[in-house]
Amino acid sequence: MILKLALDTPLPDLIDYRWTGEARIGQRAIVPWGRQTVMGLVVECVEHSDIEPARLKDAIAVLDDVAPLDAEWFRLLRFAAGYYQRPLGEVALPAIPALLRRCGAYRRVEGRPLSRSMTALRNRLAKAAARPPSADSASSVPVMNAEQADACARIEAAEGFTAFLLHGITGSGKTEVYMHAIKALLSRGRQVLVLVPEINLTPQLEQLFRGRFPLARLASLHSGLADGERALQWLVAHEGQADIVLGTRMAVLAPMPRLGLIVVDEEHDPSYKQQEGLRYSARDLAVVRARQAGIGVILGSATPSLESWVQAQRGKYTKLALTQRASTDAQLPLIRVLNTERVQLDHGFTLAMREAIGVRLARQEQVLIFHNRRGYAPVLSCGACGWLSPCTRCSAHTVFHKNDGRLHCHHCGWEVRVPRACPDCGNVDLAPLGRGTQRVEEALASWYPAARVLRIDRDSTRRKGSAPAMLAAVHAGDVDILVGTQMVAKGHDFRNLTLVGVIDADSALFSADFRAAERLFANLMQVAGRAGRADKPGEVLIQTRFARHPVFAALTSHDYPRFAAGQISDRRAAGLPPFSHQVILRAEAKTIDLALAFLVSARELAASADATGVVLYDPVPMSMVRIANVERAQLLLESSSRPALQAFLPRWISSLRGLRSRVSWHVEVDPLEI
Ligand code: ADP
Ligand code: ZN
Ligand code: ZN
Repeated sequence: MILKLALDTPLPDLIDYRWTGEARIGQRAIVPWGRQTVMGLVVECVEHSDIEPARLKDAIAVLDDVAPLDAEWFRLLRFAAGYYQRPLGEVALPAIPALLRRCGAYRRVEGRPLSRSMTALRNRLAKAAARPPSADSASSVPVMNAEQADACARIEAAEGFTAFLLHGITGSGKTEVYMHAIKALLSRGRQVLVLVPEINLTPQLEQLFRGRFPLARLASLHSGLADGERALQWLVAHEGQADIVLGTRMAVLAPMPRLGLIVVDEEHDPSYKQQEGLRYSARDLAVVRARQAGIGVILGSATPSLESWVQAQRGKYTKLALTQRASTDAQLPLIRVLNTERVQLDHGFTLAMREAIGVRLARQEQVLIFHNRRGYAPVLSCGACGWLSPCTRCSAHTVFHKNDGRLHCHHCGWEVRVPRACPDCGNVDLAPLGRGTQRVEEALASWYPAARVLRIDRDSTRRKGSAPAMLAAVHAGDVDILVGTQMVAKGHDFRNLTLVGVIDADSALFSADFRAAERLFANLMQVAGRAGRADKPGEVLIQTRFARHPVFAALTSHDYPRFAAGQISDRRAAGLPPFSHQVILRAEAKTIDLALAFLVSARELAASADATGVVLYDPVPMSMVRIANVERAQLLLESSSRPALQAFLPRWISSLRGLRSRVSWHVEVDPLEI
């Protein structure tokens, strides 16, 4: 028999191996590959191979210690490979946990290949299965309001594939709607996949689900798991023991034989986009997966992506709206814009902001200061000669971190001790320029010495387990002022938090990226949603020098539809997504000239690959040209026709493979940042 295997290599085709034993599609196989031994996946079992017999190699072993991956899983992975222009093996193998891809662990025992780590996993699984689920009394279920009930009824009434866009303002009780839909599917013996954008949101939801569904088995999948744990969680999803699989974007590729519903919470969140390797959108794949499986998918958000919003307007998705806060006494926070154009700032704060903080502290309510920039200051500067602390490897500045007295590059990780004097002119008076969260924290601590100030950002939560502990401290009321980045903006339900301050909304406003306003609106709406979630009214203060920018008018009136309408008409006029489809070819090389030269040839090759209906722009250096001594350029492709683009790409990419050059390149379909 001939096994056609997917291997994790850039080769576009399946690789043939001879095999005399038994084998089934979807099993893993250990095979020789050059001088190595690698794990492959059986995609087809056939009689004949077109490879001449002398060159055909024998497979070493076919493994039967994991249930074979089924046709539905292959269908999804095939779609992902085709859509994102990658060989199947490069997509399918990395989707399997590393532990199950390790060949070295296998020894032949009584003629069968066995791995000790696999045996250990099986033992743990058996133990977990023997343990009865903690069947405490289920937590109480709030009576749904009319909008929630209507949303649930429409979800329940749907048959086959339906994509719902659940647009609910922050605190409107979207989670309650998810849980209602989940409950219905669980009672029919189906599995449910729940995606969240951020790993720190999984414990909170896990607890909620355990309370609500005490009999259901839960698996969670995210990048924070050690290899053994990841394999275990994946196995219970794949072999069907898990009823609910909760995870970050990677979980969208988890095999689930009884899958009946997919929920994508905060569907607009950019973290659903994988930025390396297979550059996929877990949100988009969730919709594809639901369509393939003929099931429902719920995309929830207070600020849907314009892509999803337009799909709903076109009638492709079913829109469900929650327009009121669910908790009867919780009101929407009052959002106010503080114009800083002609105002004296103290450490970046207006007087109005500081007074508002003082009022909350006096009332023993919590304050969140949102600042999306970590470190102490974005750059260290010399007042005498204008030197700005550079990264030696990137076209970027290094960020001053005061707690370790070092300059860190946030792009490549390079770091260095703060110099005693300016390296250019010897001036010893180096000053931090601008502010990051550490500096904000310092100012707040000096103004409010009695207050407990906590900073949550990537630096303060580097140690494993520290983020959940810090968030728990906020929930427990052990923190008065929370200073945080994006990490705290998402999803958390802080009951005693009544003021959110944004001290600088401007850096995001005038970026070259056409999605900047959309992202800013979503970020600010989401962080604003942290205020006043229980009985006390919340207030949000946003400092900006551009108070008349339309994004703020929409924000203060909590009017996403109005904001979206403005954006959509701009995008339509400019022919930007979602009214066109984009692809980027990125080239990385030792020098920008090499990278650009490659892209110029790539552009020329497009003509021979028939680029009808596809616009190819001029190659340009990326806005940050150099990262870690690699220089980068990109070529943007655009088309109003998805089929035209998808037909062109494989032809073009295979001709690119023939280009000889010293650049590394990749194609990104539907890039989020261009
Ligand atoms: P969202 O995810 O839309 O921001 P949540 O689902 O977190 O909102 O709900 C906000 C709060 O309202 C939660 O504390 C939740 O328990 C509560 N809640 C949800 N639905 C109801 C309801 N029908 N009645 C009372 N409280 C509710
Ligand atoms: Zn100097
Ligand atoms: Zn760097």
